[in-house]
Amino acid sequence: MNLTRAARVAIVGAGPGGLACARVLQLHGRSVTVFEREAAFEARPQGGSLDLHPDTGQAALRAAGLLDRFRALSRPEGQEWRKVDHITAAALEQEWPPGDEGAGEEDRPEIDRGQLRGLLLDSLAPGTVRWGHPVSSVRPLGDGTCRLVFTDGTTEDFDLVVGADGAWSRVRPAVSDALPAYTGVTFVETGFDDSDVRHPGLAELVGPGTLVAGSDATHLFVQRNSNGHIRTYVAFRAPQDWHATVGVDPDDTASVRAYLAQRLDGWAEGLRYAALNGDHDFAHRPLFALPVPHVWESVPGVTLLGDAAHLMPPLGVGVNHALLDGTDLAQALAGEERVDDAVRAYEQLMLPRSSELAKQCAEGLKHLVP
Ligand SMILES: Cc1cc2nc3c(=O)[nH]c(=O)nc-3n(C[C@H](O)[C@H](O)[C@H](O)COP(=O)(O)OP(=O)(O)OC[C@H]3O[C@@H](n4cnc5c(N)ncnc54)[C@H](O)[C@@H]3O)c2cc1C
Repeated sequence: MNLTRAARVAIVGAGPGGLACARVLQLHGRSVTVFEREAAFEARPQGGSLDLHPDTGQAALRAAGLLDRFRALSRPEGQEWRKVDHITAAALEQEWPPGDEGAGEEDRPEIDRGQLRGLLLDSLAPGTVRWGHPVSSVRPLGDGTCRLVFTDGTTEDFDLVVGADGAWSRVRPAVSDALPAYTGVTFVETGFDDSDVRHPGLAELVGPGTLVAGSDATHLFVQRNSNGHIRTYVAFRAPQDWHATVGVDPDDTASVRAYLAQRLDGWAEGLRYAALNGDHDFAHRPLFALPVPHVWESVPGVTLLGDAAHLMPPLGVGVNHALLDGTDLAQALAGEERVDDAVRAYEQLMLPRSSELAKQCAEGLKHLVP
């Protein structure tokens, strides 16, 4: 019988969900180690802007004692949302942050994924995250404990292994055979730096939040991040190997640009600029999702949270639920005597909630990119 108070807990993945879980465990005086495959925090680009919702992401940060610091970093003005006509760029719909006239109802300030991760990392005891530790697999040992196997062949045993390792989780096979499947939608991303100075026309068109436009076949999402950065996604339905079918070299910027220019033929000049003239090479982001519902029978000594448990299309809930899962699991571990009871209590809460949400997101993707 593994008691939560003395449990050796390993979290695989230092994304928002894993870090939130570690933070709340430490607030409750529990010991925890986070294993992250990246060599360091800034080892790769940290991703775009995320909005945190009151009942999920913000509630989790409150439980982590970090809501005030989040508010200080976040951009409430980033909630502004504009839909424009793809041919004229004339405004079709607009929503303002709460408090303004015509505002949306919920307070959902934006924060860059990197800033959120930094906020959580700074809150942990020094040495909590072991960088450069890619996990290759997890082996339940039959006595309620689990063995972590790293890619260099070394192993360590724990009373609980938490898979917070995102879409392509190496922990997931210990509880489920499910694999993410391609949704049929692909995003092609680019970005603009220092946009107020270097791309003022685009900065004005986008405003402080998000701009969207769409034709029957192609959709554009343009989003302001912190420090004047603007991130653009061109979204369309296509086979996963769409570039091969249309003769585009995905690593050749000029080839991708020519293809997108064709897709955006007839679009307003400002919108074409947002899609085609980025300061960065194009990044290809085919969207994957786990089957719906994704559930499993509780396995002693191992569980999942965030994208590892319920990878969904990006309709603004992924990070919110990763944070909530992390804090819910940590609170269950702080509240129950036995590790297995805590994990079961957490899974009974998380699995139905995420199944329902995943259903809504699968449906939502049909409207986001028809
Ligand atoms: C680089 C990146 C950029 C993103 N950009 C956006 C965005 O712009 N907008 C948006 O809405 N969502 C974005 N997302 C997705 C969104 O951030 C997720 O829905 C949300 O972060 C889920 O959090 P998570 O903690 O479950 O997983 P993740 O944020 O995916 O974190 C998983 C962590 O696990 C680590 N990891 C993976 N495999 C292993 C392994 N085998 N061993 C050890 N560590 C491992 C990863 O390096 C990562 O740090 C992005 C995700 C990533 C990873």
